[in-house]
Amino acid sequence: MGMGTEKIMFPELWLPSNLEEARDIAIRVTPHFGWAAGTTLLRTQWEMGTAPMPRHLISLGQIPDLDTFLEESDRFRIGAFSKLKACADNEVVRNVFPLIGQAIDQISAPSIRNLATLGGNVASGVGDSIPALLVYGGSLQWMTEAGLIEKGLADWLEEWRLGKRDAHEFLTGIYVQIPDSESVANGRMIYFYRKIGRREAFTPSLVTIAFHGKLSKSGEWISLAMAAGGGSGTAMRLTHSENFVRRYPAKELSLTKLTEQIQAEFVTYSDAFASETYRKQTAANLFASELWKELR
Ligand SMILES: Cc1cc2nc3c(=O)[nH]c(=O)nc-3n(C[C@H](O)[C@H](O)[C@H](O)COP(=O)(O)OP(=O)(O)OC[C@H]3O[C@@H](n4cnc5c(N)ncnc54)[C@H](O)[C@@H]3O)c2cc1C
Repeated sequence: MGMGTEKIMFPELWLPSNLEEARDIAIRVTPHFGWAAGTTLLRTQWEMGTAPMPRHLISLGQIPDLDTFLEESDRFRIGAFSKLKACADNEVVRNVFPLIGQAIDQISAPSIRNLATLGGNVASGVGDSIPALLVYGGSLQWMTEAGLIEKGLADWLEEWRLGKRDAHEFLTGIYVQIPDSESVANGRMIYFYRKIGRREAFTPSLVTIAFHGKLSKSGEWISLAMAAGGGSGTAMRLTHSENFVRRYPAKELSLTKLTEQIQAEFVTYSDAFASETYRKQTAANLFASELWKELR
């Protein structure tokens, strides 16, 4: 999104009442605009000077049904404008997608979670909910100039990493796959989400990891998904590490070799607070220690 060089004190606020109107406003005021949801991240960025205030702010708060939850046959849709608290309190999220609730419970503080949206967390590209959504096979619905389209979350993150994101598009919904109840009944679910920050709570993450797998009674993996992210790094699925885990019956998995594999695959970064090596080791050790507890 282009902002221009002029310092804006008060943006012009737009409150479209439907998806098409929002898209048309964006086309009209481009490039000096930004999308706004709960504005919890935006306000921090403006205050810290890490992002300029745009001339036009298009709020998604008046568009009906952007904050609804919908159970479809094999997946669950969370409206992009759903507040983090509403997501964490939702019965389906709590019972079927507990990792999303766990991730949200560790984001900031209750007052922020009352305002912040899941769409804002995802669209920021660095939200702590992203690894949890990745292991549930997340995909994103966007309003584009050509209408509504859907993209896999992992594919969208890759576009984000490569700087190919189209700022005119806005997120309307987040889909997660409902686990197959047949295989759930016939096996054991193993899942965890962990966030490591610089303090115990109310702190940005250094590393976040998520794991979701189903183990058959004979100890073979029926399904498996691993993801890692954290800080201002782009979260990713760890598909090579998943393949490594799948190669062995659970009891024969070498956690030492798995930590090497994760460190080789996880793409992360260094900053003033933690080195790339520290982040890689932390992610790998978190997976290994949680799996050790589950599989021993
Ligand atoms: C004190 C504090 C602590 C925080 N701690 C955490 C933390 O621990 N973990 C964490 O993940 N985050 C944290 N955050 C960041 C932020 O609160 C969350 O990421 C939140 O979910 C953002 O949601 P929002 O609705 O407020 O987004 P906004 O601030 O409104 O938007 C965030 C970004 O997403 C874009 N955007 C929003 N909605 C859409 C949409 N539907 N389509 C396209 N683009 C969109 C905006 O243009 C902006 O670039 C913290 C923030 C504060 C102030």
